[in-house]
Amino acid sequence: MRILVIEDEEKVASFIQRGLEEEHYTVDIARDGIQGLDMALENIYDAIILDVMLPGKSGFEVLTELRAADITTPVLILTARGSTEDRVRGLDLGADDYLAKPFHFDELAARIRSLIRRSSAQKATRITVGDLVLDTAAHLVWRGDKEIELTAREYELLEFLMRNKHRIVSRTMIMQHVWNDPYNSMSNVVDVYIKRLRSKIEYDGKHFIHNVRGIGYRIKEPNGDA
Ligand code: CA
Repeated sequence: MRILVIEDEEKVASFIQRGLEEEHYTVDIARDGIQGLDMALENIYDAIILDVMLPGKSGFEVLTELRAADITTPVLILTARGSTEDRVRGLDLGADDYLAKPFHFDELAARIRSLIRRSSAQKATRITVGDLVLDTAAHLVWRGDKEIELTAREYELLEFLMRNKHRIVSRTMIMQHVWNDPYNSMSNVVDVYIKRLRSKIEYDGKHFIHNVRGIGYRIKEPNGDA
């Protein structure tokens, strides 16, 4: 799980980072609204913690632009204590939850867990790429009518690729999201699993998983099926 923290107060940012890392999240920090928005648009996060008062762009501006770009990542906004106006405005703009400063880390962690749980329950239960269908509720995969048997890890890898269909995902992103191991990006375990997935899915020679040289992989409809 990878979380973006957009917070200009260094003390607060490192307090959040330390706590989340202890809970085995991967954490990126942005120190202003402009950098935060760029990072949120470029990378895939499981949740975003967004301060309201930020240099560059305010948290509200960042949130508005994210939702306008169809980024549905759950966002928890950090508001000043007692500011009902900020809370209402944040929720109206598409925030999923808020927390007033100062807060206890345990409460932040509980809210993040619940946001991530809710958002994965809300996501489409069926994702399709051409005739490849993945059912996230049943954990089953088909090509047309043929069920494809996958191991738990192969399934998770395929789900991650399909949730990000048409987008390039790097080996590092895959290590972070599927293996929860951001420090092992040089290992070839990803390539080994991609090869296994291909042999199970692309049995008739149709290519779904494309290698993007030097970066990672992308899943898309086989040529002619799009
Ligand atoms: Ca601030």
